[in-house]
Amino acid sequence: MIVQYEVDQSLEQYAELGKKNNFPELQRCPSCRGVVRLKRHGFYWRNAIEGEQEYRIPICRIKCPSCEKTTSLLPSFLIPYFQHTLGHVVVDIHKGLTESVDQYRQRIQFYRRRYFQQLKQVEMFFRAEGFRGRLPGEPKEKAIKLLEMIRAFGEATFVRRSTGHFTTNFMAL
Ligand SMILES: [Zn+2]
Repeated sequence: MIVQYEVDQSLEQYAELGKKNNFPELQRCPSCRGVVRLKRHGFYWRNAIEGEQEYRIPICRIKCPSCEKTTSLLPSFLIPYFQHTLGHVVVDIHKGLTESVDQYRQRIQFYRRRYFQQLKQVEMFFRAEGFRGRLPGEPKEKAIKLLEMIRAFGEATFVRRSTGHFTTNFMAL
């Protein structure tokens, strides 16, 4: 299982600190829900990209002494299953919605398409949060408006809080 945690670091800072970083301790197992202190269980290494810069970073793993399931602690600037940082993905979606992106920018088109596929869930999340305003009827305008709401809400907070609205998480299927 993947659990996101709030971290006040950029990807660069996180990469620099490496395994010496402070990683959170969980007092409850996200798999079996048992109230138990999860033990550190090493790291795995993955790529993360911000701008043109690619980093190799450690992801801390913890293991439940009760059910023996492993949990990965993902810093809040990343989205599960994506190499590019959350900030980067959101900027790319915005580009895909507001600029004419040439046919070679496949990644941006992929993000844009995926975002459109999840637009209903994004709206449902904000409705559940109490948003009662009207949204534009035109799909692209609506998509831009909802993206602005995600940014205003805080991208990382949005991804963490909205997981129940998606099959896995924002931008993943
Ligand atoms: Zn457990």
